[in-house]
Amino acid sequence: MQIIDGKKIAGEIKAELKATTERWLREGKRPPHLAAVLVGSDGGSETYVAHKMKACEQTGFQSTLIRFDSRVSENELLERIARLNADEDVDGFIVQLPLPPHIDERKIIETIDPAKDVDGFHPVNAGRMMIGLPCLLPATPAGIMELLRRCRIETAGKRCAVLGRSNIVGKPIAMLMAQKTQSGNATVTICHSRTKDLADVTRQADIIIAAMGQPEMLTADMVKDGAVVIDVGTTRTPSADAKSGWKLKGDVKFDEVAPKCSYITPVPGGVGPMTIVSLLNNTLQAASLKRSSCNS
Ligand code: NDP
Repeated sequence: MQIIDGKKIAGEIKAELKATTERWLREGKRPPHLAAVLVGSDGGSETYVAHKMKACEQTGFQSTLIRFDSRVSENELLERIARLNADEDVDGFIVQLPLPPHIDERKIIETIDPAKDVDGFHPVNAGRMMIGLPCLLPATPAGIMELLRRCRIETAGKRCAVLGRSNIVGKPIAMLMAQKTQSGNATVTICHSRTKDLADVTRQADIIIAAMGQPEMLTADMVKDGAVVIDVGTTRTPSADAKSGWKLKGDVKFDEVAPKCSYITPVPGGVGPMTIVSLLNNTLQAASLKRSSCNS
């Protein structure tokens, strides 16, 4: 059994990104620039955005954090997004989710210029991904695909169970795994809360990608020997041992599932760090495309 060290692989990718940034600087170009819009002060969102800004610093990317009070109006936010769309100095930006209930998340996402949508949530990017056209991929699924590629895990012809059907993880990762590409070509089953006998599906799977947000739901009896298990779940659960009072738990009961696996990702330190480097990769891609279209 091999534990996939997402933190180490993400570190290698960051070093590659840093080398690219340094080359750009030597060539007299400015570094890629990622902006993040944060509304309110939700603890989880603060932490995620802080990690993204830190990763920019580590790779030499420029970063800008734009904060709004949680009472900001939808119009004010839309107006700021329009300015970011028009800002030549910003290559890509994200609006950290979730947003307060009085703001329509869909409307916000659809206002982002697809060429700057480095979270890959805009319908144009989702549609292009679906039909296999170049696009900005959603960060977490892109990170999972990169983990599989870098660990040389064979996907062609494998049975893959995706647990979860959200627009940001479940659906796109299922699509990428099924795509007719070298790192796809799997036979995919998508499961959700209405799936009957989930264990029957997971027991047949060579690759299980768990993205339910249900702590430790995937147990050893649900996994066949030699399976690859990718745990996307991250749920804060109360913990008396932790200084913060909580601990991150994945969807997989790691201690009992790991011995049965050929490969498994831990939580934390598996998919999470890959999500962040995928966001940087998308920013680099957005910056490169902008430059090539300016030069053509
Ligand atoms: P959502 O809540 O949007 O989706 C969860 C999905 O899981 C839904 O499709 C739901 O089914 C399904 N589900 C829930 N309970 C069950 C169950 N008992 N059996 C089968 N399916 C079930 O979550 P997200 O996709 O946004 O995130 C999933 C998890 O991944 C979360 O823990 C989140 O924190 C984590 N995450 C981690 C990231 C990282 O970088 N590590 C990035 C993004 C997310 P239905 O559609 O029927 O409701």
